[in-house]
Amino acid sequence: MKTVLSGIRPTGNLHLGNYYGAMVNFLKMQEENKCFFFIADWHSLTTHPDPKMLHVNVRNVLSEYLACGLDPEKATIYIQSDVPEIAELYLLLNMHAYLGELEKTVSFKEKARQNPDNVNAGLLTYPVLMATDILIHNADYVPVGKDQEQHLEMTRNYANRFNYKYGTDYFKQPTAYNFDQELIKIPGLDGSGKMGKSEGNCIYLIDEPKEIEKKVKRALTDNGPEGANTPKPDYIENLFTILKVVSTPDVVAYYDNLWNSGATKWYGNMKKQLAEDIIKVTSPIRERINDIKNDAAYLHKVAKEGAEKARESAGKTLQDVREIMGFKSF
Ligand code: AMP
Repeated sequence: MKTVLSGIRPTGNLHLGNYYGAMVNFLKMQEENKCFFFIADWHSLTTHPDPKMLHVNVRNVLSEYLACGLDPEKATIYIQSDVPEIAELYLLLNMHAYLGELEKTVSFKEKARQNPDNVNAGLLTYPVLMATDILIHNADYVPVGKDQEQHLEMTRNYANRFNYKYGTDYFKQPTAYNFDQELIKIPGLDGSGKMGKSEGNCIYLIDEPKEIEKKVKRALTDNGPEGANTPKPDYIENLFTILKVVSTPDVVAYYDNLWNSGATKWYGNMKKQLAEDIIKVTSPIRERINDIKNDAAYLHKVAKEGAEKARESAGKTLQDVREIMGFKSF
């Protein structure tokens, strides 16, 4: 059995892209692997979140994870700041992370350029904290997007450097998790290639049906195909991409045939169908999110038991690392 680790920053609600691009795969992974899913609240501190909102955001993400079907009986679901062992390993690994390489990290350079007034040390050592998250459970696989590949490469560097320095093979080489099927990218309804929080074009799992209908109705379209069997422009293809994941194959085939026939004036119907099928997927999740969010006792239990399991695994690693590095108790 392989160890898989994935984290998410508590900075917003899950949208359809997160669901089909990540969550659906997590649900499969938790059946076959030893999975750690955590809420990266320490990582979110680089942007100094409002203290009044921090806990609310963590609660929202935890509720959404659980509502989607992540199962605390199958996976270890925890909040990063509940596991102090991570902070200690982060300190130890920081001694092996060099300024030059940290400054060269693409994400650091990008963030520093975007927010020149907030280039804090936490931002610089973000990849070390990420490496710690992974190495503290000696994870084999990390499902990462393209933008995170460099951080994973750095994690391997730290693992190698540590092993070489102390003459050990303690840390494994974590690799990107490759899903069986190609990763689905959910496009935006505004014609853009990707649905994303920062793009402001999301359908959120917690959106009420009326809100979803409104968003789908506003989706970018045109006057219809200019003839039979013409290629679809990107923004129309986008609608079909979403239709393919939420609707049945015959619904997709029906509208595909309409497009290919060159007929016009059916976008309204297609949008109605699309909204209806999205709502069919999100409604039960939305209801569970709202139930779980208001169930303080359940959230407390999940967080407490998750922290216990995570601390057991992290504590073991930390004990080994301390020993390897020469720490001894009196
Ligand atoms: P983010 O919301 O950007 O922090 O991403 C969290 C996870 O959801 C990552 O695994 C992303 O690859 C995935 N994800 C985000 N947006 C999309 C999208 N539009 N389509 C598919 N996957 C996505």
